[in-house]
Amino acid sequence: MEKKEQLYEGKAKKVYATEDPERYIVSYKDDATAFNGLKKGTIVGKGAINNRMTNFLMKQLEEAGIPTHFVEELNDRETVVKKVQIVPLEVIIRNISAGSFAKRYGVEEGIVFSSPTIEFSYKNDELGDPLLNSYHALALGLATQAEIDRIKELSFAVNDFLKAFMKAHNVDLVDFKMEFGRLSDGTIVLADEISPDTCRFWDSTTHEKLDKDRFRRDLGNVEDAYQEMMRRILGE
Ligand code: UDP
Repeated sequence: MEKKEQLYEGKAKKVYATEDPERYIVSYKDDATAFNGLKKGTIVGKGAINNRMTNFLMKQLEEAGIPTHFVEELNDRETVVKKVQIVPLEVIIRNISAGSFAKRYGVEEGIVFSSPTIEFSYKNDELGDPLLNSYHALALGLATQAEIDRIKELSFAVNDFLKAFMKAHNVDLVDFKMEFGRLSDGTIVLADEISPDTCRFWDSTTHEKLDKDRFRRDLGNVEDAYQEMMRRILGE
């Protein structure tokens, strides 16, 4: 399958049409941004790591019964995915307090929750991805009630799987962001990526950060952290 015209360029990926109207090709970049695009940089090797890690995890999730947009990895940076219409919600699941949760509620990072939390943001860069609840999403016509219910159900199932998977590699899944899409027939599937860009990963023993917080917070060894996650998950 080959790339045709570029349909979209986001902060970390480009999306291309293909000869098949139901298939897109995504191409992962090394570009990194944080704080709604205010901080910009490059994380060398990130595109390939995020592509390969996402595909590996999406394959596992499919086997666990969670529908995803994944079709086929073409090369280090490029993957064929099913054409979806992205539901404009960023879904965040949290198992441990960190980031904006800790800030918003005035608590320290590292509080282990007895059950996970879910929250939605409206995917809208101009507005800075404002937090909203399912009533707001319905009122704004971003999704139907049935879609929201399905997205919640799938999100917790993804969390159950990923949390256990990461723990087996001595990694705590602190929190992560998901995006869902609609296939042409309306089926909701997991889309976007699952990577150190979109998840917080802490080493279970040392609590060392192995994710994009190293870039956001200028902690150094950013590339090493991405590579270490790749090594733990894919063994290389
Ligand atoms: N996240 C993301 N994209 C965003 C916002 C958040 O992938 O636009 C991920 C982030 O990497 C973390 C989780 O969602 O794993 C929760 O992020 P949080 O709300 O704490 O925001 P942050 O502290 O990153 O601003």
